Amino acid sequence: MRWYQLDVDRVEQKLHVTTNRGLTSKQVEQRRKQYGSNELSEQKGISKWLIFLKQFQDFMVLVLLAATLIAGLLGEYIDAIAIMVIVLVNGFIGFFQEQKAEKSMEKLKELSAPMANVLREEKWMKISSKDVVVGDIVKITSGDRVPADIRIVKSSGMETEESALTGESLPVMKHATAIVTDSLDAQDQINMGFKGTLVTRGSGIGIVVGTGMNTVMGQIATLMISTKKAITPLERKLAELGKILIVVALVLTALVVTLGVMQGHPVYNMFLAGVSLAVAAIPEGLPAIVTVALSLGVQRMIRKKAIVRKLSAVETLGCASVICSDKTGTMTENQMTVKELYINGENLYVTGDGYDIRGDYFLNKHKVDKSLPNLESMLLYGMLCNNANLNIKKGKYYIDGDPTDGALLVAARKMGLQSMNGEKYKLIKEIPFDSERKRMSVIIEDENEMRYLITKGAPDVLLPRSMYHLDKSGRKLLKEKDKKNIDQAINSMAGKALRTIAIGMKPISKNDSLDSAFLEKDLTFIGLYGMIDPPRKEVKSAIEECRQAGIKTVMITGDHVKTARTIAKNLNLIPENGLVLEGYQLNQMSLNELEDVIEDTYVFARVTPEHKLKIVKAFQEKGHIVAMTGDGVNDAPAIKASDIGISMGISGTDVTKEASSLILMDDNFATIKSAIQEGRNIFENIRKFIRYLLASNVGEILVMLFAMLLALPLPLVPVQILWVNLVTDGLPAMALGLDKPEDDVMKRRPRNPKEGIFARGLGYKIVSRGFLIGIVTLIAFMVAYQNNPENLVFGQTMAFTTLVMAQLIHVFDCRSENSVFSRNPFENIYLVLAVLSSLLLLLVVIYWEPLQPIFHTTFLGLRDWMLILVLSSLPTVLFGFTKK
Ligand code: ADP
Ligand code: MG
Repeated sequence: MRWYQLDVDRVEQKLHVTTNRGLTSKQVEQRRKQYGSNELSEQKGISKWLIFLKQFQDFMVLVLLAATLIAGLLGEYIDAIAIMVIVLVNGFIGFFQEQKAEKSMEKLKELSAPMANVLREEKWMKISSKDVVVGDIVKITSGDRVPADIRIVKSSGMETEESALTGESLPVMKHATAIVTDSLDAQDQINMGFKGTLVTRGSGIGIVVGTGMNTVMGQIATLMISTKKAITPLERKLAELGKILIVVALVLTALVVTLGVMQGHPVYNMFLAGVSLAVAAIPEGLPAIVTVALSLGVQRMIRKKAIVRKLSAVETLGCASVICSDKTGTMTENQMTVKELYINGENLYVTGDGYDIRGDYFLNKHKVDKSLPNLESMLLYGMLCNNANLNIKKGKYYIDGDPTDGALLVAARKMGLQSMNGEKYKLIKEIPFDSERKRMSVIIEDENEMRYLITKGAPDVLLPRSMYHLDKSGRKLLKEKDKKNIDQAINSMAGKALRTIAIGMKPISKNDSLDSAFLEKDLTFIGLYGMIDPPRKEVKSAIEECRQAGIKTVMITGDHVKTARTIAKNLNLIPENGLVLEGYQLNQMSLNELEDVIEDTYVFARVTPEHKLKIVKAFQEKGHIVAMTGDGVNDAPAIKASDIGISMGISGTDVTKEASSLILMDDNFATIKSAIQEGRNIFENIRKFIRYLLASNVGEILVMLFAMLLALPLPLVPVQILWVNLVTDGLPAMALGLDKPEDDVMKRRPRNPKEGIFARGLGYKIVSRGFLIGIVTLIAFMVAYQNNPENLVFGQTMAFTTLVMAQLIHVFDCRSENSVFSRNPFENIYLVLAVLSSLLLLLVVIYWEPLQPIFHTTFLGLRDWMLILVLSSLPTVLFGFTKK
C-alpha cells in the first residue's frame, strides 16, 4: 500500500503522530537523526585549494614568477625571494577575501531559505524547511512551496501547481480522501502534496511522509540542481575594462622596457622591472575587490533588515527612480482595529486600541449593548467567516492569521462574544479570500442543521451581489435609496482613512449546489465594518527622503479609493493635484494611455495583483527603474518584471520571495529606503577605490616612463613596485569599500544604469591625480639623484617614499566627489587605521636595517622628509582647491 491509498488515521498510526497534536520534540530529534535534513543534496563547492591556486592563475603573475625564478638562477637570491614572498602574501589576501565573500553569500542563502509552518507539541511554529521531518504536520497556504512530500489531511479549496514534477501547468485540486487505485502516477495522487510544488490557491494541512532526497522531487532532483555563479553587470563591465587596461598597461610597460634598454640599462634588469610594473599596474584584482565590497555592503543591508537575493540588485538599487509599494503592511502596520460599524442605517463607534479586547460600542454618544437589533448576528457572522485566531501572550493579545479577520474577532469580543471552536456551528465549505475576488465566504451549518452562507469583502464587490438588506424590523429589499445611504457611509469611513468591509448572508438549503459561481449572490447586506490600520511611523519621512533623492513613491492597494487617498495624503505621498487610478480604470486603459498619465499618478486603488504588471511596464516605458513590492502568489510576475523585485520577509510567500531580488525582513517600506541608500553608497564606494587604485597605477607607470624618457636610472626597483601594489594600495582600497556615504547621497538624482565606470568625472580625476603623483615622485627622485649621483639607492628610497606617501594622502581625496576638504578625514576609522599601518610598514622597510638590502632602501633624514611631505601632498591639496 502506498501513502495515497491509506486513510488518514492509518497514516497517523504508521507515523506515530496525530494531526491535532503534532510530533513531540523527542520524536523530532530521533527522526532527524534517522532521515537527515530535508534538503536536496547539492554538489560540493569548489575546494579551498582550488580557490587558493586560482589567485595565481593570472597570466602576468605567472610571468612574474617565471622571471623571479630566472633571477634566482642568476644568483639574485634576495630579489627572487622577496618577490616570491610578496606574490604569496598577495595570493593569501586574495584567498581570504574570496572566502569572506563566499561565506557572506552562504549566510545570505540561509537567511532567505524557505520556512515551513509545522505543528509540534500542539503549537504551530515557523521553522526552516530543512528541519521538517517525517511525521510533521504542516500547514500550507497559497503562495507556499510544499516543504516535503505530504499526505493531505485537510484541504480548503487547495490547488497546487506541479509542473516541475509532471510538466502539467494546470493547477490540481487537492482532497484528503484515500484513493484505492494501484500504482498511480504523481499527478493522479490528488491527496498528496509534493516537495517543491506550489500552492496556488486555498490552504491545507498534511502529514509529512517523505523528506529530502526521499521525495518525488528528490528522485529527479539531480537533473535540476545547478549552481552557477551569476555575474553582476558591474563585474562584467569591470572585466571588460580590465581587458582594455591590461593592453594599455602592457603597451606602456613595453615602452618603458624598450626605452630603458635603449638608454643602456641591462636587458635582464629592465625585464624584471617591466614585469613587476605590469603586475602592479594591471588591476587584475579589481573584480575580486568589487565582489568583496558588494558582499560587505550586503552584510550592512542585512543589519538594516534587507536581504539581497541577487548581488546585481545592489547596483540596480542605486538606480531606482520609482518605488511601487503595497500599502497594507508595508506602509502601514497591518494592525487592524475596527473603529466604526454601519448597521441598520446608523453609525456605531467602537473604542479601544489594537487587538486589545477592551472597548465599547457607542451610538450617538450612548453606550449600546447586544440588544441593538442585528448587532449580535453581524458580529457573530464576522467571527464565523474568519480564518484568524485571537491569542494572548504575556497579557498581550495578538492575532494569528489575517489581521483583517483578526480585527473582526476583536470587535466581537468587545461585545462579549466568544469564538465557537466549531461546537455549535459546522463549517461545510470555505471559499478563501484572495485579492482578486476581494471577498471570502463560508457555508455554516448550525445545531438545527440549518445552513447559511456568509460572505464578507470589499463593499463595492458585495453590494452588487446583494438583493436585500437588514434594518431594525427585519429583511427588506435593497433599493437605490438604501444603496445611496450605504455608499455615503462607505465614503465617510474611507474619508477617515478607514478600510471598509461589508458583510452579508443568505440561508441555503441542503440540496443547494456548493458551486461558488451560484453561491455568492442574492445576499442580504447586513452592515459595514470600518477599520483603521495606522501608517508605520517611519514611512512619512522615508517617502520624503526618497523624494529628495529623486525617487517617486507610488502606493498600491486593494482598498477603496478614498481610503487610499486619505492615507496617501496623511503620508504626504500625493501632491494636491496628484492622480489616483482605480483598477477598473486600468482595465479600460491601453498601455499607451496609462503611460500618458502615469507620471502624475501616485496611488493605485482597488487594484488586483494583475494590474501591477501593467504599472511596472508603463513606468519602465517611461524610462524608469522600478522597484515593486509584493507578497502574494499573484504578485510574482510583476516582481519578476520589475527592475528590483521586493518581497516581504514576514507576510511574503515562497513564490514571491523566489521571484524577488530583495527581501524586507520587517516588511517595512522604510527598509526599502535604507536599502536604496546602502545601494547608492556601495556603488559610490566602489567608484572610490577604483579611482584610488587606478590613479596609483597611473602614477607608478608614469614615473617609470618619464624616467626612461629623461634617460635617468630606474627610479623604483621591482620589489618596491610590488610592495607599493600590495601594501600601499591594498589595505586603504579595502577601507574605502567600508566608507560612510557622503552627506548628499540621498540628495542626488538616481544614477543612470547605463553610465560607464568613468562617468561623472571619474576618468578625469584618475588621470589628473595619477599624472601629478607620477610627476612629484619623479621630482623627488631627480632632486635626490642630482645631489647624490653616486648613491642611487638614496634616490630610489626618496622616490619610493614619495610615491607611497602621495598615495596615502591621495586616498582621502577619493572619499569625495567634491573637494578633499569637504570631508572629515578621521570619519572613516578603517581608513585611518589602514593608512597608519601602511605608513608603519613603510617606516619598517626604510629604517629596519635587515630589510634595507631586500627593499633597496636607506635611511632618510628630516630634510628629506620635509621635501617628501611637501611633494606628496601636492596632488591632493592642489586638486582640493580646484574642486574638480
Ligand atoms: P491590500 O492588501 O492592498 O490592502 P486587499 O486585496 O488585501 O488589499 O484587500 C482589498 C479589499 O478586500 C479590502 O479593502 C477589504 O474590503 C477586502 N478584504 C481584505 N481582507 C479581507 C478578508 N480577509 N476577508 C474579506 N475581505 C477582505
Ligand atoms: Mg491584503
